[in-house]
Amino acid sequence: MISGVILAGGSGRRMGGNTPKQFLTLDGKPLIWYSLRAFSESEVDEIILVTREEDIDYCRKKIVEKYGFTKVKKIVAGGSERYLSVENGLHAADETSERVIIHDGARPLVTPEIISRVLHDAMKYGAATAAMPVKDTIKIADPDGFGRETPDRSSVYQIQTPQAFSRAILVEAFLKRRALDDRNITDDTMLVERYTGVPTKMTQGSYENIKVTTPEDLPVAELFLSRQRV
Ligand code: C5P
Repeated sequence: MISGVILAGGSGRRMGGNTPKQFLTLDGKPLIWYSLRAFSESEVDEIILVTREEDIDYCRKKIVEKYGFTKVKKIVAGGSERYLSVENGLHAADETSERVIIHDGARPLVTPEIISRVLHDAMKYGAATAAMPVKDTIKIADPDGFGRETPDRSSVYQIQTPQAFSRAILVEAFLKRRALDDRNITDDTMLVERYTGVPTKMTQGSYENIKVTTPEDLPVAELFLSRQRV
């Protein structure tokens, strides 16, 4: 059994406006629709959709029921931070689930092929994330904004979602985080590395698998989507 957790619990503040970004329309469909479609077409058995408490009804009626996403088994409320939203999704997953795959609903360009590759590597290695080698040189700067280190570009990756884990590993990492009340978490691979020591496999994602964060990302996502369809 494989559980997918799709996150749509953010406020989308960086997007401006009142509509959370996951519900903005992209080529006639809400942004979150694209991730739900890719997961529905993948080998994931159930989908847990995580959203803000006040958006649960909207998600159920206007997205899940309207478009017939029958793999969505639960819609649960998120938390104030991304990792708390993931934890709520993890708790809602079926107890027989062996692998859990987590995805930012704000990445509409994910494909069933990427999902499949990440799941395969998670089965083999315990933890895997969609990632791409960086194209730019990366600098580690000091607090005054002066470059201090230049990591070898061939070993630097930009991290995307989906990210998949053996469920036991993920549960252990979240329990330890909670015990220590660690709040310095930006993604789940970081949590797993820190609390279980399991290294994450860098699985090939795509340069088109962008996260829609600010308004200028929308036309780019639209362009990539139109290319996916040809
Ligand atoms: O804010 P950011 O772009 O990093 O959010 C990544 C994903 O996590 C988005 O899909 C967003 O909806 C989700 N999120 C969440 N709960 C939060 C914060 C973000 O589900 N508290």
